[in-house]
Amino acid sequence: MKTFTLILTTLLCGLQFSFAQSFNNADAFSTFIDTKDLSKHLSVLASDEYEGRETGKEGQRKASEYLKNEFQKIGLIPPTASGYQQAFDLKGKVLANRQFSINQREMTIAEEFFVAKDRTSYNVLSNEIIFVGYGINETNYNSFANVEVSNKVVVVMDGEPKVNKKYIINADGTKSKWSDRKYKIEALRKLNPSLIIFIDQNFEKYKSYYKHQLEGNSLTLAFKNKNATNVPVLNAGQLVAEELLKANKKIYNKVLDKLSKSKSAPKPLVLKSTIKLDVQFLEQDVRSDNVLAMVPGSDLNDEYLFITAHYDHIGVIDGKVYNGADDDGSGTVALLEIAQAFMEAKKAGKGPRRNIVFMAVSGEEKGLLGSEYYVNYPIIPLSKTIVDLNIDMIGRYDEAHENDTNFVYVIGADKLSSELHTINEKAAEHVGIKVDYTFNDPKDPNRFYYRSDHYNFAKNNIPIAFYFNGVHADYHKDGDEVQKITFPMLAKRAQLVFYTAWELANRDKRIVVDKQNDFTDTK
Ligand SMILES: [Zn+2]
Repeated sequence: MKTFTLILTTLLCGLQFSFAQSFNNADAFSTFIDTKDLSKHLSVLASDEYEGRETGKEGQRKASEYLKNEFQKIGLIPPTASGYQQAFDLKGKVLANRQFSINQREMTIAEEFFVAKDRTSYNVLSNEIIFVGYGINETNYNSFANVEVSNKVVVVMDGEPKVNKKYIINADGTKSKWSDRKYKIEALRKLNPSLIIFIDQNFEKYKSYYKHQLEGNSLTLAFKNKNATNVPVLNAGQLVAEELLKANKKIYNKVLDKLSKSKSAPKPLVLKSTIKLDVQFLEQDVRSDNVLAMVPGSDLNDEYLFITAHYDHIGVIDGKVYNGADDDGSGTVALLEIAQAFMEAKKAGKGPRRNIVFMAVSGEEKGLLGSEYYVNYPIIPLSKTIVDLNIDMIGRYDEAHENDTNFVYVIGADKLSSELHTINEKAAEHVGIKVDYTFNDPKDPNRFYYRSDHYNFAKNNIPIAFYFNGVHADYHKDGDEVQKITFPMLAKRAQLVFYTAWELANRDKRIVVDKQNDFTDTK
C-alpha cells in the first residue's frame, strides 16, 4: 500500500510539475492576448459596415477578407496550397408561388397553412379528398376500413383518442406511437396518397417559426440539397380544417370532441371539396467560406490541433444591423489573438510541436453548415486532427453570473477524452478563472453540446471543448454590441484556451479518446 502511494505521489508530482513547467513556458506569450487588440479587431468586425456578417452576403465576405489578411499579417500560413479560404456552395430557397385554395377560398401561407422547403414545388389539384380522422391503423382502431387513399388527398388529424382520460390504442392507457407526428406521416406515405393534409392542433403556436422558415433566408449545403421525392405534406391550421369539413368553428369543435372521445374509428369521410395547391420555391446559389490559417508545428507536425470560432452572424433584419459582437465576434477576435501569441512563441524558438490550425467558420447561424461542410471535405485528415477547441461567445456574462467577470462555461471537454478535461482544468487553475460545468450536464435542457460547430468534430470522434459565456438578453438581438463586451474577461477566457492549446500542442503523447461517443442528438 505504501509503495503504491509513493509511486502514485511521484506520478502525480511529475504530472503537476510538467503542467507547471509547460504553462510557465507559455506565460511570456499569453500576454500577447490583450484587450487593446481584441477591442481593435472587434470594433471592425462588429461594426455596421460588416452588416451583421450574414452567410453568403457582402458583410460575411468582407469579414472573411479581413480575417485572411490579419492571419497573414500575423505570419500564419495557409494549411494547404489552395489558400486561406475554403469556399463552399449553398442553396437558398426563396418563396415564389404561394397559392392554396379550398373551394376557391384562398388560404394564407404561414397563417393558415405551411409547407416545408424540402422540395422546390408543391403542385396538387384534386377533388378526391378523404378525411381519415386520426389516421391510425391498428386492429383495435382502424381509420382506413374499406377505403382506398392511393392517389387521393388524405386529411388527417394529429394525436390519438383518449377516453376517460386514458389513451385507448395502447392497452396500458399510455400515449402510443401514433402521437408521434413523424411516425404517423411515414405510415401514411406508405399508402401513397397524392398529398397529406396534416391538421395540426398546435398550428397557432408555430406560426412565427413557419413565417421565419418561409420568409427567412434559410440555406442548405449544396451537396446535401436533395429534393424530396416522397409524398408531400401540408400542415394545416384550424381554418383549413373548418373549410375542408365545411364546418363552422362550433361544428368543427364538436367533430373534434366526438373524435377524441370515441373508442372506435369513425368511417373515413369523403369530403366534397376541391383543393388547389401551387407553392414554388426559387433556388438560389450562395457561396460562403471558412477561413483557415496555421502555425506550423516543429517535431510532431503530423498532428493537428484545431481552434475554431464562427465569424458569421444573422445579418440585417428589418433595417437593423445585428452586429453579433459577442456572438461570435468575441470568439473570432480571440482566434486572431491566440494565433498571434503562438506566432510570437514560434519567433522566440518556442513554437508548438504540433500544428495549430485556426478556423473561422461561417454558416453556423444557418445550422452549423460551415463546420459540417468542413468535416465532409476536410483539408487536414480528420484522423490527424487531435482536438477542436471551439469558442462561441466569450465576451459577456449571463444572468446566473450577473457582474461576475471571472468565469466561463466549458462544455464537452470530458465527453471523449478525460485527458482533455484535466488539461483544461489545470489551465483554468493557472489562469485563475472559474469553470462552470452547469451546461455540461447531459440532462441540461439547453443541450448546448449539440449547438455549435464543435459538435461536427465530436461526431467524428475528435475530442472537443466548447468555451461559452451563456445567453443574455441581447442574444440574437440588435443590442449585441461592442460597448457591452467586457474585454479583460474576454482576454482571460482566450488565455484559458491558449494555455489548454499550449499543453495539447506540446505534450509528448497525443490525447487519448477513452470515452464512448454520444450520438443522442435529436435534431
Ligand atoms: Zn454563436
